[in-house]
Amino acid sequence: MCGFNPYEIREDFPALRRTLHGRRLVYLDSAATSLKPVCVIEAIASFYREYCGNVARGVHTLSQEVTRLYEDAREEVARFIGADGDEVVFTYGATDSLNLVAYSWGLRNLREGDEVVLTVMEHHSNVLPWQELASLKGVRLRYVGITGDGRLDYAELEEAISERTRVVAITHMSNVLGTINDVRRVARAAHSVGAIVVVDGAQSVPHMKVDVRVLEADFLAFSGHKMLGPMGIGVLWCRRDVMEEMAPHRVGGGAIVDVEPNAAVYAPPPRRFEAGTPNVEGAVGLMEAVRYLARVGMESVEEHERELTRYAMKLFEEELGDAVEIYGPRDVNARGGILSFNLRGLDHDVVGMALDSCGIAVRTGMHCAHILHKRLGLRGTVRASFYLYNVREDVEALVDACSEIAQSGRT
Ligand code: PLP
Repeated sequence: MCGFNPYEIREDFPALRRTLHGRRLVYLDSAATSLKPVCVIEAIASFYREYCGNVARGVHTLSQEVTRLYEDAREEVARFIGADGDEVVFTYGATDSLNLVAYSWGLRNLREGDEVVLTVMEHHSNVLPWQELASLKGVRLRYVGITGDGRLDYAELEEAISERTRVVAITHMSNVLGTINDVRRVARAAHSVGAIVVVDGAQSVPHMKVDVRVLEADFLAFSGHKMLGPMGIGVLWCRRDVMEEMAPHRVGGGAIVDVEPNAAVYAPPPRRFEAGTPNVEGAVGLMEAVRYLARVGMESVEEHERELTRYAMKLFEEELGDAVEIYGPRDVNARGGILSFNLRGLDHDVVGMALDSCGIAVRTGMHCAHILHKRLGLRGTVRASFYLYNVREDVEALVDACSEIAQSGRT
């Protein structure tokens, strides 16, 4: 039993009042981007109504007010993940955060022959920056596989980590399989050889309690728009001692202490990594989003989504049996609220379009995880993803519609 009423929560999300093709909107694509509550929308609007200065750009009161607001947002977001404010860099999203790690840390610290260990379940955002580094620096990428049940193969991972490993880059929750990875176990193995651990938290931070001190990683990246906040704002948490050693990957105004014609002294972190006018409106919106999530309680959010996933797996099995194939761990406790599946004999996009005509928004395709889909021998999947505003009726609508699609596809 979760600690909030999702029917009351739904009242806070104006998008749920709209229809899709004349039907009640069943929004099951929160892994792509979440809906926004009124308080977030209002916070952004009131920022533009009431504030009118740039951050850290002047002595006048208006500028100082904006600076205070931006730094309050940093503190609030840091608190949400059990961190201190000065360990949190605002970025444009998880992708930007992961690029920051690769270019600020990787470019200067990796040498030819070093190895980066990844998993086959990584989103492209946690693959491509490392691929770029591999070609620039002669670094080798090693991919760790999954078990038949869609879990990370820890034995293979521990074997892949060696004295040559400098980075282990891993997703906390797979955006396809929903698998939750044991980051602490991975971090301990990586740290035992002196490697750093980069965690892609794009799917975990919005949906479960994440505390950076518990994870024991060195970096954690996530996006605001997947956790009730606006687009264009993201976060990179970084261990303080690691961050202090890093040079900025983007340079410009706001990130310096002093500049000479041929040299510059960069500001201490996190400002060192935030050159240019930042997305203050995004930070303000994200602050309101994490306040909202904290009020509801992340343990409750996780439990609610797990209940919906359990219910969906049960209904799919009862109503469709062999006509549906579900990917990822059978044990619902090993996964979050992401359910990827295929209807046997039917193309994933065809299923997605048929669901759309029933008012149900899901994602179809390879979900920026080509390596995983190829490993599974799949051309794509249909992905339903849940959040705190989803209810059992959404699951029933999905399974009923899939049942009809499967039947009409067979006749
Ligand atoms: N990592 C994972 C696991 C994701 O699911 C996503 C987005 O779908 C990203 C990274 C990239 O997030 P963004 O597009 O917000 O940068």
